[in-house]
Amino acid sequence: MLKAVKVRLYPTTEQEIALAKSFCCARWYWNYALNACIQHYSQTGKSLKLSVYKAYLPQLKVEYPWLKEDCYSAVLQCVAINLNKAYANFFEGRAKFPRFKSKHHKQSIQYPQNVKVVGDCLEVAKIGVIKAVFHRPIEEKVKTVTISKTPTDKYFASILLEIEGESSQISGDKTLSIDLGLKDFAIVHDGNEVTKYSNPKYLKRHEKNLARKQKKFARKVKGSNSRNKYKKLVAKVHERVSNSRQDFLHKLSRKLVDESQVIIVENLNVKGMVRNRKLSKSISDVGWGMFANFLDYKLKAKDGQLVEIGRFFPSSKTCSCCGHVLDELTLDIREWDCPSCKTHHDRDGNAALNIRNEGIRILSMDGGNPLLADRGCVRPPTRKGKGQRSMKSEAHTVPDRVGVG
Ligand SMILES: [Zn+2]
Repeated sequence: MLKAVKVRLYPTTEQEIALAKSFCCARWYWNYALNACIQHYSQTGKSLKLSVYKAYLPQLKVEYPWLKEDCYSAVLQCVAINLNKAYANFFEGRAKFPRFKSKHHKQSIQYPQNVKVVGDCLEVAKIGVIKAVFHRPIEEKVKTVTISKTPTDKYFASILLEIEGESSQISGDKTLSIDLGLKDFAIVHDGNEVTKYSNPKYLKRHEKNLARKQKKFARKVKGSNSRNKYKKLVAKVHERVSNSRQDFLHKLSRKLVDESQVIIVENLNVKGMVRNRKLSKSISDVGWGMFANFLDYKLKAKDGQLVEIGRFFPSSKTCSCCGHVLDELTLDIREWDCPSCKTHHDRDGNAALNIRNEGIRILSMDGGNPLLADRGCVRPPTRKGKGQRSMKSEAHTVPDRVGVG
């Protein structure tokens, strides 16, 4: 089993310079290889193979000696592999087309080898011994290390560890269903009772602050020092929002996964919903997509299962008692009576129970084979098997999906 730990790094000024050079080389080679792939495709209609752009490296190092001097060679090999992964994710519909990297965004490099944990430091090839803050001693075998720099100038290392044997997991055996909402973040049904978890509206709280800083930032002259200063301040507010959101999602998903063996959620097609401008801000704010990712990998780690049911399943409009489907149920109606069996329903509790029943129905059909489920679908095995749900196009982004929470 693999597990990732994320640690904060405190490089010295010289190490910061060395890291900046490595980021630069990795970014340059990514953009060079991506450009070559695009050119090759436009000329031949075929995609360029990994082995081809990997083979460019020796010649490039002769032409551009800094590529050899400033960067550990395995880091560049990783860039090639990650570009190949990004293409595969794109072709298999998991991610958008790979993008060129900019020096203005988050920077990162990946080390497949030659990184050691020494005391409370990280020894990195070509960079040196970097001071780090570990929250627990690292005794496991280090697989890969990804070093990144955020737009707010913080450095992190995400260390992927190989853990022997099963980790001790609290193992509840409930089957939970989750209906995701805006008023409440999640409405959970365990077959007997409904629990509602309210939505912490982080963005709203930080919104005024953000708007003020963004306005000031926009007024500054391009390229000026004060513009750069405000750019950092805006990035800091964004960082605070995203940290507190992740913290909430990690804690809630951990709690639910500890209680259960199977969790059933609605596939909301978050992207489609975000396009609805009226709702978009609050939807992006609550981070549903990220929540599904967290549930997915935490369940996998204990051999549990996340079941997604189709987003056209009428979970709100169906009576969980007799199966009667209403023609319409507007968003403002919170409670209703079934015209067929006269049962009184709480909107959210009823929806959560329907999702649960539908998930169990899908699971009972041939062990949840997605091909046989007519109305809903279970997450396709290609994603499940490789565990690449959250890998997006930049396959080298910090893999903290693997067990930080
Ligand atoms: Zn009914």
